[in-house]
Formats: sequence, structure tokens, C-alpha cells
Amino acid sequence: MKKYWSSRIQNLVPYTPGEQPKDRKFIKLNTNENPYPPSPKALEAIHKEAGESLRLYSDPEGVALRKALSKAYGISEKQIFVGNGSDEVLAFAFQAYFGVGDTIVFPDITYSFYPVYAEMFGINCEIVPLNDDFTMPIDKLIGNNNGVVITNPNAPTGIEMSQQDLRRVLEGNPDVVVIVDEAYVDFGGTSALPLLEEYPNLLVVQTMSKSRSLAGLRVGYAFGSENLIQAINCVKNSINSYTLDRLAIVGGAAAVGDQEYFEKTCSMVMETRERTVQRLKELGFQVLPSKSNFIFISHEFVPAKKLFAQLREEGILVRYFDKPRINNFLRVSIGTEEDMATFCDVMEKLVRQS
Ligand SMILES: *Cc1c(COP(=O)(O)O)cnc(C)c1O
Repeated sequence: MKKYWSSRIQNLVPYTPGEQPKDRKFIKLNTNENPYPPSPKALEAIHKEAGESLRLYSDPEGVALRKALSKAYGISEKQIFVGNGSDEVLAFAFQAYFGVGDTIVFPDITYSFYPVYAEMFGINCEIVPLNDDFTMPIDKLIGNNNGVVITNPNAPTGIEMSQQDLRRVLEGNPDVVVIVDEAYVDFGGTSALPLLEEYPNLLVVQTMSKSRSLAGLRVGYAFGSENLIQAINCVKNSINSYTLDRLAIVGGAAAVGDQEYFEKTCSMVMETRERTVQRLKELGFQVLPSKSNFIFISHEFVPAKKLFAQLREEGILVRYFDKPRINNFLRVSIGTEEDMATFCDVMEKLVRQS
């Protein structure tokens, strides 16, 4: 079966993306996509670009997109890297900063792509348990390691780590890179971007997949010191110079330029989240405090695994992780107000039946 596979790939267990069903119509609350469409300005820019120019290669440096990000975030273009989704940006960053045989530290409950990259690139992992309340074990992220990776707000818990704690991690690891994956920061979190000036070992990674409703366009980016950005460019240009196509560059730039639409849709998601949390608590759910576009919930007596299956039968997809510590939780992405009202109604019915 695995004849011809390289030895490195033979035993690799790849990441499992959330289901994208094609057979029937579900209320899709399983992959943290944004329920609202992308900015109309982004769509217009993409339409305009979809023409004769596609004959030509895209800009390998994605200057138009980096300029737009620079303007929006007040950070020099030289401190910005753009890539084909933040998954790619993270994969490049791992290769840029962590070598074969190095050991990186991250928590047991976090984005499950990190151990896959580590395995793929021959990096060892020191996996430290989150505290009992699912907050970050700050002391365990400091010390004898070759790098640290943190999702903030964390996934799939949604819990945010304080700026003060992040400073402790950065100061405790001055000679290695600390990657902060801020895929969900726009839903009420506090970004580490203002810390860039103080910490040359900080890399902040963000994406347009969640807060900018552009998961299908594949645009991610990283902010860091010029030195750190040059290292990722070195990796990228050793693999594929044109990771972002023409549509992604112009669409991404236009999306970043449409601040008003961005703020409006993020607020809608956050308001719906708070209403959903309220109703679920009334139904006897424990809901971890979320600063993201999903919630992580557990019921006092109905098992998560059972709810997951029943929700599916009712046409609602959520995410269930059959892993120690979190196997009685469901991760539920925040959909439209209407989707979430339906979700809560179905949950109410299922809890009553149990
Ligand atoms: C969704 C997600 C990503 C990947 O986003 P893309 O930009 O779509 O590749 C990275 N990190 C975390 C924690 C995520 O949840």
C-alpha cells in the first residue's frame, strides 16, 4: 500500500480538516467559517482581476496586499509576510525557525495542525497540559526549548490569554521564536501586534478565513521583525514563489481596505455569540468564556458524543474531538442569528428528551 512513499511520509498522520459535506444541506457550524459573505469590495476586486491578466504570473511578493495590511495595521511592509492561508504561513514559519531535532513547546489542547507540522519537519514536541480550567500554563511555556507556539484566543477552547502572560512567555524565551496564531483575535480578543516593537522573537500570524469571510480565497499573513520575515521568505522562495494568485492578492487587499464592513460583521458574530451563550447556559450547558467565533460547550448530563450524532441527524454539523480532556465538549461555530436560534431550539429539544 505504501510502496514508493518516502520514509518520512510512511508514518505521518495528517491533519483532519472539518467535514465539508456535499450530499445534503446542513447548518454548518463545524469549521468556524464566517456566516456572512465577504466584503462586496473584495468580490468586486476579484471580478475585475478575473480576466486577461491571469495569463501573467502573480506578484511573488504580494506587494498590493502587504501595502493594504501595512496601512490597516500601521506596520511596515517589510515586517509583513503574506501566504496561501495561515496554515501555509505556519508551515513555512516552522521550517524557518525550528530545525530537525529541535524541541518546540505547545499545550495539549490547541490547534491540532502543530504536531503534524512538527512530525513532518522532524521537530520534537514538548506538549504541556493546559491548566484544569483550560487556561495557559504559563510557567510550562518558559525555559528549555527551541520555540513556542500559542493560539490566542486558543482553539478549540476560545479562551484568551492575557497580554501580561504573553509578555512573560516572550521574556522567558528571549532566544527562540514565539509564534502567536491569532486566527480568531478579531472576535473580541486583544492582538499581540503592539508588542512587536519590544520583542524581536515574536511572530504574529493571522488569517482572512474567519473574520474576513474569505476561507475559500486562502489568504494568511504574519507580522514580525524584518529578520523573522526574511527567514519565512527564504523558505517560501525555496518551495514556491507564487503562493498567492492574482485573485487572492487583490481580493485580500480590498477586504483589508473595507474596515467598516469588517467591523460590522465581526460585531454581528459577537452579538450572536453572546445571545447563544445565554440560551445554552439556561439549558444547563457549561460554556467556556469565548473571544472567538465559536464556543466550546459541555452539558451537565447529556454526553457530547451523543449530542453530536443527534445534531447531525437534525441537519446541524458541529465539531467533536474524541480526545482526552475534551471528549465531552462540542465546538460550535457561530452562524447567523437565525442559524443559532435554530441550533438552540434543537438543543433544547435534545436536552429535554434525554
Ligand atoms: C482556521 C485556523 C487556521 C488556518 O486558517 P487558514 O488561513 O484558513 O489556513 C490557523 N490557525 C488556527 C488556530 C485556525 O483555527
